[in-house]
Formats: sequence, structure tokens, C-alpha cells
Amino acid sequence: MITERTDVVIGLEVHVQLTTQSKLFCGCSTRYQDSEPNTHTCPICLGLPGSLPVINEMAVVYAERVAKALNCSVQRTQFYRKNYYYPDLPKGFQISQYDFPLGINGHMTVDSEGQERKIRIRRVHIEEDPGKLTYRGTIEKAQYSLIDYNRSGVPLLEVVTEPDLRTPKEARRFINKLRNILEYLDVFDGNLEGSLRVDANVSISGGKRAEVKNISSYKGVEKALLFEITRQRNLLRRGIHITQETRHFDEARGITISLRSKEQEHDYRYFPEPDLTQVDPEPLVKQFPQQVEIELPDAKRRRFVEKYRISDYLAKVLTASKPLADYYEMVAALVDPSVAASWVVDVLQGELNYRDLTLDAFSPEDLVDVITHVTDGTITEKVGVEVIRTVLDQSCSSGDIKVRVPSVGAIASVGKVEVIIDEQELHAVPTEQITTAVKQAIEENPQAVADYRSGKKGALNFLVGQVMKKTRGRADPTLTNRLIQEQL
Ligand SMILES: [Zn+2]
Repeated sequence: MITERTDVVIGLEVHVQLTTQSKLFCGCSTRYQDSEPNTHTCPICLGLPGSLPVINEMAVVYAERVAKALNCSVQRTQFYRKNYYYPDLPKGFQISQYDFPLGINGHMTVDSEGQERKIRIRRVHIEEDPGKLTYRGTIEKAQYSLIDYNRSGVPLLEVVTEPDLRTPKEARRFINKLRNILEYLDVFDGNLEGSLRVDANVSISGGKRAEVKNISSYKGVEKALLFEITRQRNLLRRGIHITQETRHFDEARGITISLRSKEQEHDYRYFPEPDLTQVDPEPLVKQFPQQVEIELPDAKRRRFVEKYRISDYLAKVLTASKPLADYYEMVAALVDPSVAASWVVDVLQGELNYRDLTLDAFSPEDLVDVITHVTDGTITEKVGVEVIRTVLDQSCSSGDIKVRVPSVGAIASVGKVEVIIDEQELHAVPTEQITTAVKQAIEENPQAVADYRSGKKGALNFLVGQVMKKTRGRADPTLTNRLIQEQL
């Protein structure tokens, strides 16, 4: 474990799409995800001769926000041409930043085995996204590929770390935290396909490094690094030298494949972009003051503890993603905030993760309904959990529905939760009915009664269990407990 921590060196280059309305150097819309290929294009992002780029100032403002949040110094910046030929790059060069990135010398802390580790950020810069190539088959064997220029010119932000990360898990945590900060800053939408891509540099024992390109999912980063470290260790064990090379991560197969060696590396012939002037972020930022005050995760966590009187642990979990924090605040506005916190964290999160679903699968209104029904005693807590499960099972088994689904009209008028409770007769059992069930349980189980009287603790639980069986889990456990003790 110790050698693993000390001899592996990982550096990350994270590319994220900024959520500006238009592209980096032209007016084309960046909302191309649902559009036909090559419909969000113009002479500028198609790189036609004679077209001239104009900087999207909002992209600079967004990048400045990120650079500041990552504790970088922000400086006057210059665009460069990075020259290479590839079909997804119609100009034959990518406009990027080279010697004068917008942000430099920052850092971010990452939780690592109970310790806070400081990961240095080398640079934060802006560049344009190339078009998208779709290979027919796998990348090494494809006979041809299709090109979509809708993505060409979308503003990308690149965050480059120093080689300070030591394990794949740490790398994953870094990415998760970065994503969280970007969402908090309102400059990034992690739900958009391909909105985050990572290149990872890995080396062992000071050997030559391999660069794994274009990892496009959060889980992929950890998997690719684990594979790459094992591959390099196996080579070293057999006495084979690691060569410096660029590799591709094949997500479906979970392996990395060599794309090119150092000898084939490009010389990008960087030079300053003559069609764009230098940009000073500071005056620009003043021109576009933020509409709302941005609250970063740590500040939100402190506010949650103070305002909602919840534990620091719950506040930490709830602020680990902005959508979750927003969700919680919607629920907490309508019911007891501390009850809301435990339903969101202890129940809903677990049920969602188990089914690989996101928060969209269960609306805050529905959760408020469940909590209200439990609080006023209409249903028991156990049934509340069941209702959540029922709704989630419906959304993950579309077409193959195992549970009874309320009719659509009913949902609109009464609310999903209400309908499920009514249709499946889940209302909490009235006290008289519980009393009857308690009497029956006592009559039917003389041994348990005798055990209870001789002081055996387990006997009471057994009797409660019998009552639950008779009432299909709809009796309130605390009340049942009390009634049994009264009867005995
Ligand atoms: Zn365009």
C-alpha cells in the first residue's frame, strides 16, 4: 500500500465544456445535443477561408470564475494557434492558449483517506472544442468515420494539475470535486453528453509516462488509471522499459491501447493567433457582474448546519453536489429540515444509487408528500420507504412494470404518492385494528408471552413482528410496542 502511494505519479488534464449560449468565436448556439449533425455551423466554426474569429466575452468571464475558485492568479491572456491536421479540425489549427494561460499556480484540496491533500493546479485556459468524429466500429479498425461540426468551436476550459495525485481513487475524487465546483459556479452542465473529458498522465517509479487520452466518464478515469498502472507494473516486472506514448482508453473493454509513441508526437508549432487581441479578464468581469452571489460548497455546508440545524456530516453529504443541495432546500422549505435531511440522505440517495437513477426520478414535491404522510401518521415510515421504491421501480422498469402503476389522470389531479397509497391500500392501520392484531398475536404465541414474562428481550420483538405480519407492515411500530406491553 505504501509503495503504491509513493511510486505512482498521476497528472490530469480535464476538459470541460462551458455553458455559454454561443460558441467561443462565432454566434452559433452551443445547444446542439438534440440537433441533426452539422446544423449549428457557420463559416467561422467551419474554418472557411477569410472568416475571422471574435471572442465570446462570456467564456472569458466564466473561465475567470473557475480560475478564482481554484485559487489561481488571473492574468492578461493571449490566444495561440496549435497547428495539426485532423478531420475534426477544419482550420488545420486549434485556437488555444499556450504561454499566457488565463489562470496559473492554483490549488484544490482533496479528501484522501481521512487527510486533506493539496493538489496544485498548473494552469487554467480556454480553447475551442474540435468537431466530433464517430468511428464505424472501434477506433483502430474503423474503415471510415463520420464528422459532425456542431461541437466545433464550443468553448472548452482546460484545467491542468501538477503531477500531485497518487492513486486512481484520488484522481476520481479530484474530478468529482472539480465537477461540483463547476456546477456551483453555474458554468458547466455535467449531464450533457461529452461535457467532460480527461487526459491522464501516469508513470511509476519515475519511469516514462503514458498519456491516456479522452476518457469521457467519471468512473472511466479511475478504471483507465487502474488498468494503466497494472499494465506498467507487469511490464516492469518482466524487465521491459516503459516507453513514452499516447494511449486511448477503450471504455467498453476497459483497456488502454497504444495510439502513438513519442517519435510520432506532434510538433504543434505554436504561435500567437494574429486575428485576436490579448484579453484582460479583470475589466471584462466587471462588465458582467453576476446575477446571483455564488456560494461555494464549503460555505453552503456551513450555512446548512446553521440554518437547518443538521449535523455537519449530513450537510457535507447534501452539499457534495449542487443539484442535491438544491433538491434538499426545496424539500426543507416545506417540511421539518432535519427530517427532510435524513429522508434525502438515508433513504432517497440509497434507493437512487441502488437503481443507478438520478434525482429527476423522484420529485421534491413527491418527497414532501411522503414525509408529510409519515409525519401526520397516515402511513408508517416503512410504507413511506416502500412508496419511494415503488415510484423508482416504475421509472427504471419502463415497459416491464412489476408494480401497479397509478393511472396518468389520477397522478395529475391527486399526486403520485397519494394515488399509490390509496390504490395499494397502504394507509396506517387504525389503533383498534392494531389492538385486535395484538390480542391475536398474544393468544397464538403462549411461548413468546411466557418468555417475555421471564424477562427475555427478544420475545417482545417477536410479538411485534407477528403484529406486523397481520397488518402487512402498516401498523406503527412504536404504538404496537406499547400496546403489547400494556396487554401483557
Ligand atoms: Zn459558427
